[in-house]
Amino acid sequence: MDTKVKVDISKLRIDGERLWAALMELAKIGATPKGGVCRLTLTDLDKQGRDLVSRWAREAGMTVTIDKIGNGFLRRAGRNNALPPIVTGSHIDTQPTGGKFDGNYGVLAGIEVVRTLNDHGIQTEAPIEVAFWTNEEGSRFVPVMMGSGVFAKAFTLEKAYAATDTDGLTVKSELERIGYIGSEEPGDHAIGSYFETHIEQGPVLEDHDITIGVVTGVLGIKWYDCTVTGMEAHAGPTPMALRRDALQVAAQLMLEVVAVAHRHPPDGKGHGRGTVGMVQVHPNSRNVIPGRVKFSIDLRNSSDELVEAMDADIKACAERLSAASGLPIQIELVSHYPAQPFHADCIAAVAKAASDLGYSQMPVVSGAGHDAVYMARMAPAGMIFIPCKDGISHNEIEDAKPAHLEAGCNVLLHAMLAKAGVNPP
Ligand SMILES: [Zn+2]
Repeated sequence: MDTKVKVDISKLRIDGERLWAALMELAKIGATPKGGVCRLTLTDLDKQGRDLVSRWAREAGMTVTIDKIGNGFLRRAGRNNALPPIVTGSHIDTQPTGGKFDGNYGVLAGIEVVRTLNDHGIQTEAPIEVAFWTNEEGSRFVPVMMGSGVFAKAFTLEKAYAATDTDGLTVKSELERIGYIGSEEPGDHAIGSYFETHIEQGPVLEDHDITIGVVTGVLGIKWYDCTVTGMEAHAGPTPMALRRDALQVAAQLMLEVVAVAHRHPPDGKGHGRGTVGMVQVHPNSRNVIPGRVKFSIDLRNSSDELVEAMDADIKACAERLSAASGLPIQIELVSHYPAQPFHADCIAAVAKAASDLGYSQMPVVSGAGHDAVYMARMAPAGMIFIPCKDGISHNEIEDAKPAHLEAGCNVLLHAMLAKAGVNPP
């Protein structure tokens, strides 16, 4: 007699209360008085978080592999273990004033998917893995997205090992100290497809009252330092026509940074964003005409071509302003992250899972970096966003609704099952 319980896969749902309980349990490690979490990468608290998640994985019958940069791969075997695993994951390190959900949700949603499969005795064709990536936040050690970046060969293991914190401690010595330096070569790990669930960290989903953001890609970013050079002079005796006021010229260029972004509205193609976040006025004195202004420019858009179009507009504007004022304007590129579109198959799997489950959904772009950006260089990748309160993240007041967390995890479950394959019992 067949004693196996027959499961209708389409009716399969994760346990939202268990997911919430896991999030709250992990959030106790490094909990702050204001309700947030401070669990900086490679600290004793990070070790405790890693230990807890690894223990939960082992209790769920998973094996734990750590690579040389401390990335963890928690594996649930499939029926055919020669197939590359379907992987989900995120990070469990936080900002100094971080919240309970950023990153942690992506890892614990993966654990909840496995627990759900265990509950119903479901075996997948391909193995399923949950990854936690080292130092996504980049708060203690630079660069950000370190573990996934080494994995994707965006930079070398040696460079990552040599990074130091403000006390001069290195990534390598801290990995050794907490016992999370494994033997597997980063990147020597097959990935069939990669999915990452994450709180949106922005206000779009909440603003549209939508449960699931089907992430189509991550914006390309260019960072510049811009310097306008004029001449300091006394604010009283110098007539207007004879001034070389660096701030007046800089201000016009700053307006153009925002204007160029407005010319690329979110219309299905462009998602232009332009920000001047840092301004230094020299000598910064009320009765001195500013002689030098240095400011930052942050340009983002959904494709590299659109970022280049914004770049060209800014430079053309700077040339015009410089010619009209006679003041030199220097624009120096300091960082560049290419746009990363996600894979059509993964986007479709997320959209289909959301519609099969009856959740409201919309396509969104990610304005922030995620481990999935580097994974997209290694395998077909996609992301699932859920709303977070007021779009706030990297803040202790970061909050997400249990129903949204549950919905995102259900979408993850069904997107992963579609890729991993399930034979009907
Ligand atoms: Zn994150």
